[in-house]
Amino acid sequence: MTQSAQNRAPDGPAAPHPLPRLPRGLPLIDGQLVEPLRPDRMVDTIDPSTGRVITQLHACTIDDVDRAVQAAHRCFESREWRTMRPLDRGRLLERLALLVEEHREELARLEALDSGKLLNVTRAIDLQFTIDGLRYYAGWASKIAGEYVSHSPLVPEDAVYRAYTQRRPVGVVAGITPWNFPIGQAIQKIAPAIAFGCTVVLKPALETSLTALRLGELILEAGFPAGAVNIITGHGPEIGTALVNHPLVRKIAFTGSTVTGQNILASAAQTMKRVTLELGGKSPAIILADADLDRAIPGAAAAIFANSGQICTAGSRLLIEAPIYDKVMEGVCDIARNLKLGSAFDPATQMGPLISARHRSRVAAMVEAGLAEGASAVAGGCPGEGDGWFYKPTVLAGVSSQMSVMQEEIFGPVVCAVRVDDAADIVRMANDTPFGLAASIWTRDLDRAHLLAERIDAGTVWLNTHNVLDLAMPFGGHKLSGLGHEFGNEAMKSFTEPKAVCMRLEARGLV
Ligand code: NDP
Repeated sequence: MTQSAQNRAPDGPAAPHPLPRLPRGLPLIDGQLVEPLRPDRMVDTIDPSTGRVITQLHACTIDDVDRAVQAAHRCFESREWRTMRPLDRGRLLERLALLVEEHREELARLEALDSGKLLNVTRAIDLQFTIDGLRYYAGWASKIAGEYVSHSPLVPEDAVYRAYTQRRPVGVVAGITPWNFPIGQAIQKIAPAIAFGCTVVLKPALETSLTALRLGELILEAGFPAGAVNIITGHGPEIGTALVNHPLVRKIAFTGSTVTGQNILASAAQTMKRVTLELGGKSPAIILADADLDRAIPGAAAAIFANSGQICTAGSRLLIEAPIYDKVMEGVCDIARNLKLGSAFDPATQMGPLISARHRSRVAAMVEAGLAEGASAVAGGCPGEGDGWFYKPTVLAGVSSQMSVMQEEIFGPVVCAVRVDDAADIVRMANDTPFGLAASIWTRDLDRAHLLAERIDAGTVWLNTHNVLDLAMPFGGHKLSGLGHEFGNEAMKSFTEPKAVCMRLEARGLV
């Protein structure tokens, strides 16, 4: 790729914001940045804020997948990796954390350019989450322990039986990630894999592979053993499928849409690969009549409009208790109408673009379907102005549970508002979708908050806040929102498997 050709419309002017340093764009395979086997297969990557081409990326092939998986497998089986001290695996992650910290501004700019996420958000949230994630899992590497099991053998004899368990790394992990938190998601697959003794092949979303490719360069600089981490770019239906089906892959750690997750689960059944799936959601933000509305109204608006609604846990259904319905609607619609849309690089921007023209069309079509089914757009309901893929913050009213906008994930800045009457109504509405990822409850009444939280079928319930994640808190979805958990102790369990070692000891008068 040539720097001068980058970030221009086919025959348009140079981009309005300065380019960050771009990675070389080469996959990381077996400890080297390598040309793919078919270097001619290139795909444009676009700046969603302007619609301009940033650069071109390699679309790797199934043969590249095989090279990467073989390298990960060789590393996993190698004496160097098998005998590396857990503290030293942790040190690799710490070194990478230091390098990411050193290049924080460059990576934050690259992420903003590639994904349309606001630069002040990539700086403060995405990069911090990335660095924290590396350090968090670096600490875990030396905290993996098995258990002692009291054994009750069935055959009495002059011997005793003892058993212990080890947590063994599952093997080669395929990490497949979406475009909404590119670098953060990449680290959520790479860091636990390394901490828990696995090796990994990462396939980031093709739309947003730039920060993952730059991470690959930093991983080389940090001195990871060849093959421990491999990063390949390309089309999910082609190389993602090949990764999922590769016989040497032992676990798939996937974040993305529910449909792709279902396909992966079905394929993995053939070989019993371990699978964790972090999928979509249709999460309710529930505002009770006694809530502190000065916090609840901006909180509910941020729950859906942050990252242009492209967050799996976005509060995309707003359930409002009847006495405060009008006041909350007025407040949330007022925020929606006044949010400033614009480039990720403009400090005045409050909401950036959607990821792509295709995704914006999808969001627009889903809103149109809702309007055709009888919903009304009280705010927004159409694309925004400008060259980027903007869509106006949208509040839909007059919705019912049967409508597609209430049942399907839109993954854009679109919230459906519903009036609810009593506790039974709230619980019924909150759980009335095929998803179960998250929910928030806004109230001053702790009794109601905790008892309602118990009734909501979701992996995470927030009280008086929304979208707060913590690496020590297990994260995963119920129902169609996923399978298994990431973060905390749950990550350790999903990247390792227990092995029981049982022994017969001659008693010889000792017991
Ligand atoms: P997709 O499922 O389309 O893509 C996610 C990843 O899977 C991409 O890397 C994609 O590759 C790859 N992929 C696509 N098809 C296949 C396949 N057949 N086999 C293997 N891999 C494949 O999701 P989106 O990119 O549309 O991401 C948005 C979705 O992700 C939303 O539904 C959102 O809710 C969900 N999500 C869930 C999160 C959670 O933690 N629960 C967090 C973030 C997002 P490529 O795109 O490069 O072709």
